[in-house]
Amino acid sequence: MDFLREIALKTADLIKRSGKTLALTGAGISTESGIPDYRSKGTGLWEKYDPMSKASLSALISDPVEFYNFNLPRWIKYANAEPNTAHRVLAKMEEKNFIRGVITQNIDGLHIKAGSRNVWEVHGHLRTCRCMGCNHKYDFSEAVRQFEDGIVPPKCKTCGGILRPDVVLFEDPMSSDYYRALEALEGCELLIVVGSSLQVYPVADMPYLARQMVIINKEPTTFDSRAAVTAHCKAGEFFEELASILKI
Ligand SMILES: [Zn+2]
Repeated sequence: MDFLREIALKTADLIKRSGKTLALTGAGISTESGIPDYRSKGTGLWEKYDPMSKASLSALISDPVEFYNFNLPRWIKYANAEPNTAHRVLAKMEEKNFIRGVITQNIDGLHIKAGSRNVWEVHGHLRTCRCMGCNHKYDFSEAVRQFEDGIVPPKCKTCGGILRPDVVLFEDPMSSDYYRALEALEGCELLIVVGSSLQVYPVADMPYLARQMVIINKEPTTFDSRAAVTAHCKAGEFFEELASILKI
């Protein structure tokens, strides 16, 4: 039998036996939507630059112009990306009660765009931003509009404070979604990990909270030996097979 078919059949079987299944996704699920994985070996942005110096809270405070010039062009690309097969199948799986929802490390918002309802974005998202002075909320497009008009950094229209995206920067506290994700993981019988090497905290501890795991990732992870099913493939290929088996 075709390897992917076999892996998808095993996964479908585990899902049908599981009383509570969640998905946990990372950068690898969005590469097929044209968003590069910044931690991938050799080509990743964070191989070239130190994230602490480029995408941390102290970088934003000490040099907001450089912070925006470095980060906003790629965040604009995220905001314009479209969900792929893997995102769409996960949304369908939730609709059909095969999974309870998706915990994601990604800030691209593609699970919500694909129609997932229970999404825990542990590193935040790019739908909104807020003023660091008065905490007033803005649509993220306001920061983009100002940036494109040459106003760098973008500012609050009320108090003139600098706007910051609602993403979790290095040095920021954990998001409320992180704590909600931990609650959601209580009693989790099956965790389907997609496109995450499970190396980045806070998700690196999450596999311990699930009874069983399926890992779909292009490269091996340190949790592979603990997983019931592992496949090193593209997420889209796997989910196409899984969708046909689950008839969704
Ligand atoms: Zn303000």
